[in-house]
Amino acid sequence: MPNEIHVPSRREAIRAQVQSGGGLAAVFPYHPPRALLRAHGLLPVEVWGPPGRSSSRGDAHLQPYTCSLVRAGLSFLLEGGLDQARVVLVPHGCDSLQGLGSVLLDFVKPAPPVLTCYLPRGDRALDRAFLADELRELDARLAAALGTRPDEAALLAAVEREERADQALGELLEGRARVGLGEEAFYRLVRSREYLPAEDFAALAGRALAAPAASARPARTPLVVSGLVPEPMALLSVLEAAGATVTGDDLACSGRRRYRPTQGPEPFARMSEGMLSGPPDSTRGASVEARLQHLRQLARAAGARGVVFLTLKFCEPELYYLPQLREGLAQDGVRALSLEVDLAEALPAPLVTRLEAFVETLR
Ligand code: SF4
Repeated sequence: MPNEIHVPSRREAIRAQVQSGGGLAAVFPYHPPRALLRAHGLLPVEVWGPPGRSSSRGDAHLQPYTCSLVRAGLSFLLEGGLDQARVVLVPHGCDSLQGLGSVLLDFVKPAPPVLTCYLPRGDRALDRAFLADELRELDARLAAALGTRPDEAALLAAVEREERADQALGELLEGRARVGLGEEAFYRLVRSREYLPAEDFAALAGRALAAPAASARPARTPLVVSGLVPEPMALLSVLEAAGATVTGDDLACSGRRRYRPTQGPEPFARMSEGMLSGPPDSTRGASVEARLQHLRQLARAAGARGVVFLTLKFCEPELYYLPQLREGLAQDGVRALSLEVDLAEALPAPLVTRLEAFVETLR
């Protein structure tokens, strides 16, 4: 096992960026324009909660049926957790995030400027042109807020750095059996893409893939995991202890970020094309059929006979798809388990039992 590979924590990445004189961008999911932020001298650090904390400060500003990702993120901001950020970016991934953007802009008005960005629900030429314009507008707003004006060469260099990291993420997900890490440790490595500089992540992934595994792991039951984020992370250890392994990734924080490389001289067109090129995603309004085909392909590729859907409570974009995805998978003989979690809560015991029982049915 490549124990010598140290995966820096979010805190360490933030400290290193601040010590080097760089700024931070606190970025809510999904599909943040990392290249643009880096070109403006900011390290994008994604805000997924953080998990395991009370969201009571944020609850006062939001409807009770808002998902825990938004509630926890707002609480964290109100508690000063994002005070180091030079900007807060809220991409419009769903109605809850749009609502968060409005609450921040109109009521909370935190010290760092709050920027929003609309992600189109398609990947036609029209959608790509729209997003490129959104990114140009965001570039202008970043310039106004920070006084930075990256030229075209700097923007293109940033695009290429991110594309190398995207490729490394894909190789890591493909090469997971070689890496020899346990499920939870593997996902800590994968999820460092959420906050490490692109070049650091690419180097780390390369080292993990190059390190010899200490010993072959016993045969395990292959599974596809779908949803937004594998939280609580302890779920992955439960899955491993039950004898399963994740062989197909349809998570918004990882597998749905396997963007295709782009080409061309215009940086905003490339950023837009890349951001819309990932696998079908609920937060980009993919069709049920496209998502079903993708899940079928992931399951087939690894011989998986089960899909675990990890859903956050009140997450309408994900819940909308579930009945039809489950039905379509069942027609192929692929079983599905849906687990609903709340980011603020520890791993509930009934959920552990259901996951263990599900793995048992796949043997
Ligand atoms: S996609 Fe779901 S979990 Fe994510 S912010 Fe929107 S409602 Fe919340």
